[in-house]
Amino acid sequence: MKTKIAIIGGGMSGLSTTYYLSQNPEYQIDLYEKNANFGGLLGLLTVNGVGFEGYYHHLFKSDKDIIGLIHELNIDHKLLYLPSSVGIHYNSKIYSFSTPKDLLHFSPLPLIDRIRLGFVAIYLQKFVTDKNWKKLAQLSAGNWILKYAGRRAYKIIWEPLLKGKFGEHADSISMAWLWSRLYLRSKSRNGANEELVYLDGGFKLLIDKLLEKLRNKQVNLYTNSDIVEIKPSSKQGLTLQVQKGQTLQYDKIIVTTPNPVFAKLCPSLPAEYTEKLAKVKYRGAMVAILQLKKQFMKDIYWLNVNDPNSHILAVVEHTNFVSPNKYSGAHLLYAGAYPAQTDELMTMNKTDLFELIVKELKKINPKFNKSFVDAHWIFRDKFAQPIVDTNYHNYIPPVKTGIDNLYLVNMAQVYPEDRGTNQAVRDGKSIADKIIFGEY
Ligand SMILES: Cc1cc2nc3c(=O)[nH]c(=O)nc-3n(C[C@H](O)[C@H](O)[C@H](O)COP(=O)(O)OP(=O)(O)OC[C@H]3O[C@@H](n4cnc5c(N)ncnc54)[C@H](O)[C@@H]3O)c2cc1C
Repeated sequence: MKTKIAIIGGGMSGLSTTYYLSQNPEYQIDLYEKNANFGGLLGLLTVNGVGFEGYYHHLFKSDKDIIGLIHELNIDHKLLYLPSSVGIHYNSKIYSFSTPKDLLHFSPLPLIDRIRLGFVAIYLQKFVTDKNWKKLAQLSAGNWILKYAGRRAYKIIWEPLLKGKFGEHADSISMAWLWSRLYLRSKSRNGANEELVYLDGGFKLLIDKLLEKLRNKQVNLYTNSDIVEIKPSSKQGLTLQVQKGQTLQYDKIIVTTPNPVFAKLCPSLPAEYTEKLAKVKYRGAMVAILQLKKQFMKDIYWLNVNDPNSHILAVVEHTNFVSPNKYSGAHLLYAGAYPAQTDELMTMNKTDLFELIVKELKKINPKFNKSFVDAHWIFRDKFAQPIVDTNYHNYIPPVKTGIDNLYLVNMAQVYPEDRGTNQAVRDGKSIADKIIFGEY
């Protein structure tokens, strides 16, 4: 008899867990996704027949796990290593902010502050490492930057980013998280310049390939399947209920949903575990994608919007990274924010939201207007970014849930790194190995 395993959630965590488990013929695996499509926070769509992401995505060169998977799936010839360019929109002006030279020319800061910031960046990238980062875990990123980079650098560069991403929690974000972002990013540098990684055909290519492999291994793939309850049944087994009313028996279940969803669908979790789940708070994400007739901004792929009154945090011109020729000439632009789950950006109707986005974009490029836009999409998700505060390391929920054979693998467990598709693949492989080798 094969061991019956259910995986809940068909994002990158669920898909990679399923893929690695499916290498073992002793398992009968069912993968459940509540939405009509797999991919989760990638938010897959197609533009002019080419795969594209609803939420802006790229990889870093240091993303070894997902790049390894791409090689294993024999689609590595589709990897694109492309130069990236970053800018900051501040006081109605765009400043390049990609290289050390750009920092030296960043005129909103006095020269002394630019030099100081350069030393801070070198310190974080060269002297804090995988081995000694823990000393930063309990320190507030805001306070740390204020102390070492100074008030002006904090106010102009860092505060808008921390507030944009974490709102009222900005002051309590862990410095370990911020360090990790800068550290991993520095590994994608090629001398002074940054190179990022993308797939020709988008992440859809990877998801489609994974699904093809899973079908070949007789994995049952279920979409539109909202799991509503999991409970322990006999001594070691588990019962799973799908919304349609079916009740099914499994030997093991791996859940990859956000914490609050897991807590709700499994009321019999130990109280101590449920408490940990509840302590992790999330920010939502709102991203508008605009398909444009022409380029929005010159030479900048990723623009941080450092204007405290802006509703958007980043403008990402995908086709300043990947050529518009790949999309039959369409220019693709994201405007995104990480609002509180109850913020109006998360609840406003899509027509009003689109109007608001157009207004915000006009502040950046005054020539921009609606006639540039051929099509647009809005993506929103309530559980897009765990709030990684200075106590976060104390309440990360473990993979083992306290109920035998029931496991959790999700992005709230990723720390100090920022959550990402690479970590989802890494953690999916890790639990699959533990199950295959009998540790779990
Ligand atoms: C704006 C934005 C930009 C990002 N940029 C990058 C980037 O550039 N590079 C990068 O690597 N990462 C990036 N990320 C992060 C990356 O998208 C995530 O880390 C990754 O996709 C998480 O995958 P996951 O499977 O853990 O979670 P999810 O993608 O959230 O998957 C969970 C799945 O569970 C399903 N589900 C929920 N409840 C149920 C239920 N009851 N029954 C069945 N299914 C259920 C959901 O529908 C979902 O598909 C970005 C994220 C956002 C929001």
